[in-house]
Amino acid sequence: MVLTNLGIMIRPIDLRSDTVTQPTDAMREAMFRAVVGDDGFNDDPTIHQLEQRFAALMGKEAAIFVPSGVMANQIAVRVLTRPGDVIVAGRSQHVVSFEYGASARNSGVQFGLVNDERGELALDEVEEYLQAEDDHQPAVTLVSIENTHMPSGGTPWRLSAIQALRAAIGPRALHLDGARIFNASVATGVAPADIAAPATTVMACLSKGLCAPVGSLLAGPTELMERGRLERKRLGGTMRQAGFLAAAGLVALDGIDRLAEDHARAKILARAFAARFPEANYDPESCHTNIVAFTHPRARLIAALMEEQGVLGGTVAPKRARFVVHAGISDDDVQRVIEVLEQVSLPAG
Ligand SMILES: *Cc1c(COP(=O)(O)O)cnc(C)c1O
Repeated sequence: MVLTNLGIMIRPIDLRSDTVTQPTDAMREAMFRAVVGDDGFNDDPTIHQLEQRFAALMGKEAAIFVPSGVMANQIAVRVLTRPGDVIVAGRSQHVVSFEYGASARNSGVQFGLVNDERGELALDEVEEYLQAEDDHQPAVTLVSIENTHMPSGGTPWRLSAIQALRAAIGPRALHLDGARIFNASVATGVAPADIAAPATTVMACLSKGLCAPVGSLLAGPTELMERGRLERKRLGGTMRQAGFLAAAGLVALDGIDRLAEDHARAKILARAFAARFPEANYDPESCHTNIVAFTHPRARLIAALMEEQGVLGGTVAPKRARFVVHAGISDDDVQRVIEVLEQVSLPAG
Protein backbone atom coordinates (compact mmCIF):
# COMPACT_ATOMS: atom_id res chain seq x y z
CA MET A 1 0.00 0.00 0.00
CA VAL A 2 1.13 3.55 -0.66
CA LEU A 3 0.31 6.68 1.34
CA THR A 4 -0.48 9.41 -1.18
CA ASN A 5 0.11 13.08 -0.49
CA LEU A 6 -3.63 13.36 0.17
CA GLY A 7 -3.08 10.97 3.06
CA ILE A 8 -5.11 8.16 1.45
CA MET A 9 -3.88 4.56 1.40
CA ILE A 10 -4.24 2.95 -2.01
CA ARG A 11 -3.19 -0.26 -3.73
CA PRO A 12 -0.25 0.67 -5.95
CA ILE A 13 -0.66 0.23 -9.69
CA ASP A 14 2.39 -1.81 -10.49
CA LEU A 15 3.82 -1.05 -13.93
CA ARG A 16 7.40 -1.99 -13.03
CA SER A 17 7.35 -5.15 -15.15
CA ASP A 18 5.12 -7.90 -16.50
CA THR A 19 7.07 -10.25 -14.23
CA VAL A 20 4.89 -9.08 -11.32
CA THR A 21 1.88 -11.01 -12.66
CA GLN A 22 0.23 -13.51 -10.31
CA PRO A 23 -0.58 -17.10 -11.31
CA THR A 24 -4.23 -17.51 -12.31
CA ASP A 25 -6.73 -19.73 -10.50
CA ALA A 26 -6.53 -22.22 -13.39
CA MET A 27 -2.75 -22.40 -12.87
CA ARG A 28 -3.10 -22.99 -9.14
CA GLU A 29 -5.60 -25.76 -9.87
CA ALA A 30 -3.29 -27.34 -12.49
CA MET A 31 -0.35 -27.16 -10.08
CA PHE A 32 -2.37 -28.89 -7.38
CA ARG A 33 -3.21 -31.77 -9.71
CA ALA A 34 0.11 -32.07 -11.59
CA VAL A 35 1.69 -35.49 -12.02
CA VAL A 36 5.38 -35.00 -11.28
CA GLY A 37 8.65 -36.91 -11.17
CA ASP A 38 12.37 -36.29 -10.77
CA ASP A 39 13.45 -34.29 -13.82
CA GLY A 40 17.09 -34.98 -12.93
CA PHE A 41 16.24 -38.55 -14.05
CA ASN A 42 14.14 -37.18 -16.93
CA ASP A 43 11.10 -38.60 -15.13
CA ASP A 44 8.66 -35.68 -14.99
CA PRO A 45 5.77 -36.24 -17.44
CA THR A 46 4.39 -32.71 -17.02
CA ILE A 47 7.75 -31.17 -17.92
CA HIS A 48 7.97 -33.46 -20.95
CA GLN A 49 4.52 -32.34 -22.04
CA LEU A 50 5.45 -28.66 -21.70
CA GLU A 51 8.77 -29.11 -23.52
CA GLN A 52 7.12 -30.97 -26.40
CA ARG A 53 4.29 -28.48 -26.69
CA PHE A 54 6.72 -25.55 -26.73
CA ALA A 55 9.02 -27.20 -29.28
CA ALA A 56 6.01 -27.78 -31.57
CA LEU A 57 4.79 -24.20 -31.06
CA MET A 58 8.23 -22.90 -32.08
CA GLY A 59 8.63 -25.35 -34.96
CA LYS A 60 11.79 -26.82 -33.39
CA GLU A 61 12.81 -30.43 -32.69
CA ALA A 62 13.25 -30.19 -28.92
CA ALA A 63 13.04 -27.89 -25.92
CA ILE A 64 14.24 -27.63 -22.34
CA PHE A 65 12.44 -26.12 -19.38
CA VAL A 66 14.65 -23.81 -17.33
CA PRO A 67 14.16 -21.67 -14.21
CA SER A 68 14.66 -18.29 -15.90
CA GLY A 69 15.04 -16.41 -19.14
CA VAL A 70 18.60 -15.52 -18.27
CA MET A 71 19.46 -19.20 -17.95
CA ALA A 72 17.84 -19.95 -21.32
CA ASN A 73 19.96 -17.24 -22.95
CA GLN A 74 23.09 -18.42 -21.14
CA ILE A 75 22.58 -22.04 -22.22
CA ALA A 76 22.13 -20.89 -25.82
CA VAL A 77 25.40 -18.94 -25.61
CA ARG A 78 27.17 -21.96 -24.12
CA VAL A 79 26.07 -24.36 -26.86
CA LEU A 80 26.53 -21.96 -29.78
CA THR A 81 29.93 -20.37 -29.06
CA ARG A 82 33.49 -21.10 -27.96
CA PRO A 83 35.54 -18.87 -25.62
CA GLY A 84 36.96 -15.92 -27.52
CA ASP A 85 34.19 -15.84 -30.10
CA VAL A 86 32.18 -12.73 -30.87
CA ILE A 87 28.40 -12.57 -30.42
CA VAL A 88 26.92 -9.79 -32.51
CA ALA A 89 23.96 -8.25 -30.69
CA GLY A 90 22.11 -4.99 -30.19
CA ARG A 91 23.80 -2.85 -27.57
CA SER A 92 20.70 -2.52 -25.37
CA GLN A 93 19.58 -6.15 -25.52
CA HIS A 94 18.97 -8.16 -22.36
CA VAL A 95 21.81 -10.61 -23.03
CA VAL A 96 24.20 -7.64 -23.33
CA SER A 97 23.00 -5.16 -20.73
CA PHE A 98 20.82 -6.93 -18.17
CA GLU A 99 22.61 -10.19 -17.37
CA TYR A 100 25.50 -8.71 -15.38
CA GLY A 101 28.16 -9.89 -17.81
CA ALA A 102 26.98 -13.51 -17.63
CA SER A 103 28.03 -14.37 -21.20
CA ALA A 104 31.61 -13.24 -20.50
CA ARG A 105 31.68 -15.00 -17.17
CA ASN A 106 30.01 -18.25 -18.24
CA SER A 107 31.23 -18.63 -21.81
CA GLY A 108 34.27 -16.36 -22.17
CA VAL A 109 32.79 -14.62 -25.20
CA GLN A 110 32.83 -10.99 -26.23
CA PHE A 111 30.12 -8.91 -27.84
CA GLY A 112 30.18 -7.03 -31.11
CA LEU A 113 27.60 -4.34 -30.46
CA VAL A 114 25.41 -2.74 -33.07
CA ASN A 115 22.70 -0.08 -33.04
CA ASP A 116 19.30 -1.41 -31.94
CA GLU A 117 17.65 1.88 -31.05
CA ARG A 118 14.42 0.90 -32.78
CA GLY A 119 14.64 -2.81 -31.97
CA GLU A 120 15.94 -4.34 -35.17
CA LEU A 121 19.72 -4.65 -35.62
CA ALA A 122 21.44 -2.25 -38.02
CA LEU A 123 22.25 -4.73 -40.77
CA ASP A 124 25.18 -2.74 -42.20
CA GLU A 125 26.85 -2.77 -38.78
CA VAL A 126 26.29 -6.53 -38.46
CA GLU A 127 27.92 -7.04 -41.85
CA GLU A 128 30.96 -5.02 -40.78
CA TYR A 129 31.65 -7.49 -37.95
CA LEU A 130 31.35 -10.40 -40.37
CA GLN A 131 33.67 -8.77 -42.91
CA ALA A 132 36.23 -7.97 -40.19
CA GLU A 133 36.88 -11.72 -39.85
CA ASP A 134 38.96 -11.32 -43.03
CA ASP A 135 41.04 -8.64 -41.28
CA HIS A 136 42.43 -10.84 -38.49
CA GLN A 137 39.50 -10.08 -36.18
CA PRO A 138 37.76 -12.73 -34.04
CA ALA A 139 35.12 -15.07 -35.43
CA VAL A 140 31.48 -14.17 -35.14
CA THR A 141 29.80 -17.49 -34.38
CA LEU A 142 26.50 -16.19 -33.07
CA VAL A 143 24.11 -13.34 -33.74
CA SER A 144 21.52 -12.67 -31.05
CA ILE A 145 18.31 -10.70 -31.45
CA GLU A 146 15.47 -9.77 -29.12
CA ASN A 147 11.80 -9.96 -30.17
CA THR A 148 9.96 -8.10 -28.88
CA HIS A 149 12.84 -5.77 -28.18
CA MET A 150 12.30 -4.46 -24.66
CA PRO A 151 14.42 -1.26 -24.37
CA SER A 152 13.02 0.29 -27.54
CA GLY A 153 9.51 -0.13 -26.09
CA GLY A 154 8.56 -3.75 -26.72
CA THR A 155 9.10 -3.43 -30.46
CA PRO A 156 8.28 -6.45 -32.63
CA TRP A 157 10.67 -7.21 -35.48
CA ARG A 158 9.34 -7.25 -39.03
CA LEU A 159 9.55 -10.86 -40.23
CA SER A 160 11.25 -9.63 -43.41
CA ALA A 161 14.00 -8.04 -41.29
CA ILE A 162 14.66 -11.31 -39.42
CA GLN A 163 14.81 -13.12 -42.74
CA ALA A 164 17.18 -10.53 -44.21
CA LEU A 165 19.46 -10.88 -41.17
CA ARG A 166 19.35 -14.67 -41.50
CA ALA A 167 20.41 -14.40 -45.15
CA ALA A 168 23.22 -11.98 -44.31
CA ILE A 169 24.89 -14.10 -41.61
CA GLY A 170 25.48 -17.21 -43.71
CA PRO A 171 26.08 -20.39 -41.73
CA ARG A 172 26.39 -18.65 -38.37
CA ALA A 173 23.95 -19.42 -35.56
CA LEU A 174 21.09 -17.06 -34.74
CA HIS A 175 19.64 -16.96 -31.23
CA LEU A 176 16.27 -15.37 -30.68
CA ASP A 177 15.69 -13.98 -27.20
CA GLY A 178 11.93 -14.28 -27.39
CA ALA A 179 11.21 -13.53 -23.76
CA ARG A 180 8.15 -11.77 -25.21
CA ILE A 181 7.83 -13.63 -28.53
CA PHE A 182 4.12 -14.17 -27.86
CA ASN A 183 3.61 -10.41 -27.61
CA ALA A 184 5.40 -10.13 -30.96
CA SER A 185 3.17 -12.80 -32.45
CA VAL A 186 -0.06 -11.22 -31.19
CA ALA A 187 1.01 -7.75 -32.37
CA THR A 188 2.07 -8.82 -35.87
CA GLY A 189 -0.27 -11.75 -36.51
CA VAL A 190 2.74 -13.91 -37.42
CA ALA A 191 2.78 -17.40 -35.83
CA PRO A 192 5.56 -18.00 -33.27
CA ALA A 193 7.00 -20.82 -35.41
CA ASP A 194 7.30 -18.45 -38.38
CA ILE A 195 9.00 -15.79 -36.24
CA ALA A 196 11.38 -18.45 -34.88
CA ALA A 197 12.02 -20.23 -38.20
CA PRO A 198 15.14 -18.23 -39.14
CA ALA A 199 16.60 -18.78 -35.63
CA THR A 200 18.77 -21.72 -34.55
CA THR A 201 17.54 -21.45 -30.98
CA VAL A 202 14.64 -19.54 -29.42
CA MET A 203 13.77 -18.84 -25.82
CA ALA A 204 10.54 -17.59 -24.29
CA CYS A 205 9.47 -16.59 -20.78
CA LEU A 206 6.29 -18.00 -19.27
CA SER A 207 6.61 -15.80 -16.20
CA LYS A 208 5.93 -12.42 -17.83
CA GLY A 209 2.73 -11.53 -19.70
CA LEU A 210 1.62 -15.17 -19.65
CA CYS A 211 1.41 -15.06 -15.82
CA ALA A 212 3.17 -18.32 -14.89
CA PRO A 213 4.95 -18.04 -11.53
CA VAL A 214 8.32 -19.40 -12.73
CA GLY A 215 9.94 -20.71 -15.87
CA SER A 216 11.29 -20.20 -19.35
CA LEU A 217 11.97 -22.52 -22.27
CA LEU A 218 14.72 -22.89 -24.84
CA ALA A 219 14.01 -24.68 -28.14
CA GLY A 220 16.22 -25.80 -31.01
CA PRO A 221 17.69 -28.84 -32.73
CA THR A 222 17.74 -32.09 -30.67
CA GLU A 223 21.52 -32.35 -30.61
CA LEU A 224 21.89 -28.78 -29.27
CA MET A 225 19.16 -29.28 -26.69
CA GLU A 226 20.88 -32.44 -25.43
CA ARG A 227 24.04 -30.42 -24.91
CA GLY A 228 21.84 -27.72 -23.40
CA ARG A 229 20.60 -30.18 -20.76
CA LEU A 230 24.19 -30.72 -19.69
CA GLU A 231 24.84 -26.97 -19.54
CA ARG A 232 21.65 -26.53 -17.51
CA LYS A 233 23.09 -29.04 -15.02
CA ARG A 234 26.41 -27.15 -14.93
CA LEU A 235 24.59 -23.89 -14.23
CA GLY A 236 22.66 -25.51 -11.39
CA GLY A 237 19.36 -25.32 -13.25
CA THR A 238 18.28 -28.96 -13.21
CA MET A 239 15.18 -29.11 -11.04
CA ARG A 240 13.42 -32.10 -9.53
CA GLN A 241 9.60 -32.23 -9.23
CA ALA A 242 9.33 -29.02 -11.22
CA GLY A 243 6.30 -30.43 -13.05
CA PHE A 244 4.33 -28.27 -10.62
CA LEU A 245 5.80 -25.27 -12.40
CA ALA A 246 5.43 -26.85 -15.84
CA ALA A 247 1.72 -27.43 -15.09
CA ALA A 248 1.29 -23.69 -14.62
CA GLY A 249 3.34 -23.18 -17.78
CA LEU A 250 0.95 -25.33 -19.82
CA VAL A 251 -1.95 -23.17 -18.67
CA ALA A 252 0.14 -20.07 -19.47
CA LEU A 253 0.41 -21.19 -23.10
CA ASP A 254 -3.41 -21.16 -23.27
CA GLY A 255 -3.32 -17.44 -22.45
CA ILE A 256 -1.46 -16.03 -25.44
CA ASP A 257 -4.46 -14.27 -27.03
CA ARG A 258 -5.10 -12.31 -23.81
CA LEU A 259 -1.92 -10.32 -24.47
CA ALA A 260 -3.90 -8.22 -26.97
CA GLU A 261 -5.70 -6.61 -24.00
CA ASP A 262 -2.35 -5.52 -22.54
CA HIS A 263 -1.36 -4.05 -25.89
CA ALA A 264 -4.58 -2.03 -26.17
CA ARG A 265 -4.15 -0.63 -22.65
CA ALA A 266 -0.48 0.17 -23.25
CA LYS A 267 -1.42 2.15 -26.36
CA ILE A 268 -3.81 4.29 -24.32
CA LEU A 269 -1.08 4.92 -21.76
CA ALA A 270 1.49 5.64 -24.47
CA ARG A 271 -0.75 8.39 -25.87
CA ALA A 272 -1.24 9.82 -22.37
CA PHE A 273 2.49 9.89 -21.61
CA ALA A 274 3.28 11.41 -25.01
CA ALA A 275 0.70 14.15 -24.50
CA ARG A 276 1.87 14.88 -20.95
CA PHE A 277 5.58 15.08 -21.83
CA PRO A 278 5.76 16.52 -25.38
CA GLU A 279 9.41 17.47 -24.76
CA ALA A 280 10.22 13.73 -24.85
CA ASN A 281 9.28 13.55 -28.56
CA TYR A 282 7.83 10.12 -27.83
CA ASP A 283 5.72 8.71 -30.66
CA PRO A 284 2.92 6.70 -29.01
CA GLU A 285 2.26 4.93 -32.31
CA SER A 286 5.64 3.24 -31.83
CA CYS A 287 4.07 1.34 -28.91
CA HIS A 288 2.92 -1.92 -30.48
CA THR A 289 2.86 -4.25 -27.48
CA ASN A 290 2.78 -3.90 -23.69
CA ILE A 291 5.70 -1.58 -22.95
CA VAL A 292 5.67 2.21 -22.77
CA ALA A 293 9.29 3.40 -22.87
CA PHE A 294 10.53 6.89 -23.66
CA THR A 295 13.62 9.02 -23.23
CA HIS A 296 13.30 12.07 -21.01
CA PRO A 297 16.07 14.02 -19.26
CA ARG A 298 14.16 13.69 -15.98
CA ALA A 299 12.96 10.10 -16.36
CA ARG A 300 13.99 9.12 -12.83
CA LEU A 301 12.16 12.07 -11.35
CA ILE A 302 9.01 11.25 -13.35
CA ALA A 303 9.09 7.69 -12.01
CA ALA A 304 9.67 8.93 -8.45
CA LEU A 305 6.83 11.48 -8.57
CA MET A 306 4.42 8.90 -9.96
CA GLU A 307 5.44 6.44 -7.29
CA GLU A 308 4.44 9.00 -4.65
CA GLN A 309 0.97 8.85 -6.21
CA GLY A 310 0.85 5.06 -6.17
CA VAL A 311 1.93 4.32 -9.74
CA LEU A 312 5.06 2.19 -9.87
CA GLY A 313 7.27 2.29 -12.95
CA GLY A 314 10.97 2.65 -13.43
CA THR A 315 13.92 3.39 -15.66
CA VAL A 316 15.85 0.83 -17.72
CA ALA A 317 18.75 3.12 -18.58
CA PRO A 318 19.70 6.67 -17.62
CA LYS A 319 16.94 8.98 -18.92
CA ARG A 320 14.88 6.02 -20.16
CA ALA A 321 11.51 5.62 -18.41
CA ARG A 322 9.54 2.38 -18.66
CA PHE A 323 6.01 1.39 -17.70
CA VAL A 324 4.81 -2.15 -18.46
CA VAL A 325 1.19 -3.31 -18.82
CA HIS A 326 0.17 -6.84 -17.82
CA ALA A 327 -2.75 -8.98 -16.66
CA GLY A 328 -2.88 -7.20 -13.29
CA ILE A 329 -3.76 -3.88 -14.93
CA SER A 330 -7.44 -3.08 -15.53
CA ASP A 331 -9.15 -0.32 -17.52
CA ASP A 332 -9.78 1.47 -14.21
CA ASP A 333 -6.08 1.29 -13.42
CA VAL A 334 -5.31 2.87 -16.80
CA GLN A 335 -7.71 5.73 -16.00
CA ARG A 336 -6.08 6.20 -12.60
CA VAL A 337 -2.61 6.37 -14.18
CA ILE A 338 -3.88 9.04 -16.57
CA GLU A 339 -5.25 11.05 -13.62
CA VAL A 340 -1.92 10.75 -11.81
CA LEU A 341 -0.07 11.85 -14.94
CA GLU A 342 -2.16 15.00 -15.05
CA GLN A 343 -1.23 15.78 -11.45
CA VAL A 344 2.49 15.14 -11.76
CA SER A 345 4.35 18.41 -12.13
CA LEU A 346 8.06 18.54 -12.71
CA PRO A 347 9.72 21.30 -10.69
CA ALA A 348 11.40 23.94 -12.85
CA GLY A 349 15.07 23.44 -13.59
C1 LIG B 1 13.01 -10.85 -18.73
C2 LIG B 1 13.90 -11.03 -19.90
C3 LIG B 1 14.90 -11.99 -19.87
C4 LIG B 1 15.25 -12.79 -18.64
O1 LIG B 1 14.22 -13.46 -18.03
P1 LIG B 1 14.30 -13.80 -16.45
O2 LIG B 1 13.27 -14.88 -16.33
O3 LIG B 1 13.98 -12.55 -15.74
O4 LIG B 1 15.66 -14.31 -16.18
C5 LIG B 1 15.66 -12.15 -21.01
N1 LIG B 1 15.44 -11.41 -22.11
C6 LIG B 1 14.49 -10.47 -22.16
C7 LIG B 1 14.26 -9.69 -23.42
C8 LIG B 1 13.69 -10.23 -21.05
O5 LIG B 1 12.76 -9.28 -21.09
